Amino acid sequence: MKQIAVISGKGGTGKTVVTGGLAALAKSKIMVDCDVDAADLHLLLHPLVKERHDFRSGQTAVIDKKSCSRCGECLAACRFGAIKTDYRIESFSCEGCALCSYLCPHGAIRMEENVAGEWFISDTRYGPFVHAKLGIAEENSGKLVVKIKQVAKELAEKQALDYMIIDGPPGIGCPVIASLSGVDCVLIVTEPTLSGLHDAKRVMELAKHFNIPAKLVVNKYDLNPSMTERVEEFCLSAGVPVSGKIVFDKTVVKALVEGKTIIEYAQCAAGDELRKIWEILKS
Ligand code: SF4
Ligand code: SF4
Repeated sequence: MKQIAVISGKGGTGKTVVTGGLAALAKSKIMVDCDVDAADLHLLLHPLVKERHDFRSGQTAVIDKKSCSRCGECLAACRFGAIKTDYRIESFSCEGCALCSYLCPHGAIRMEENVAGEWFISDTRYGPFVHAKLGIAEENSGKLVVKIKQVAKELAEKQALDYMIIDGPPGIGCPVIASLSGVDCVLIVTEPTLSGLHDAKRVMELAKHFNIPAKLVVNKYDLNPSMTERVEEFCLSAGVPVSGKIVFDKTVVKALVEGKTIIEYAQCAAGDELRKIWEILKS
């Protein structure tokens, strides 16, 4: 099985449109939405959830009021102001360092595992889909990405699928790095703007660092042809092939509004370019 990750230096470049298109074009595949902080591939795939699991990560302190003598040691020690004067712990402020539980002379504080989100195995019209939802203000999105990728890999191997199509998170942080583990090719989606070029450079460096072959797609390239040229020049110097240039096409917007992938919505220039990109990726 080959893993293809669609990533971008920043959000809003059209990464999910491209991923949705590839999901529609690839025949034997599993899809994974690794953008767990702001998942949106489900808006195009309309998953039917088959399995729902808690994602447990981190710990929060809990005080057993019956055993607490109100000595104040924990209150004085907590650097995060999580323990209130009535010896109640504000879970949002607790960093889970466990210092208070070590200090408490009466063993009145226990550490409880957090439910930091949920992950799902779903069916879609394009095949199996593994996705997740990180809880509000929760961290450890990289750990959640590792989890869903591992689940997707096991499922894909069990069903002898040919591809894993990954909608990666934007940027170059921990969740992106977690998304890239085991990936055979990254497809970088960028837009023809100065910030698009700057952020694309950073993800190219990331892919290079992990020795993963990268290809680039310029989305809405015709909105700024001179900047597209600059992106292409940079790609040439960096040895990253430009696998496609997608025009600004209002059909894409209409497809998104209807919750459809561009491939299934209508024959159009953007869809044709995506077909070409898929053929390049396959080869
Ligand atoms: S250290 Fe233990 S006994 Fe003292 S106030 Fe905190 S919870 Fe209560
Ligand atoms: S675990 Fe750490 S952050 Fe949480 S209440 Fe205890 S001392 Fe404060």
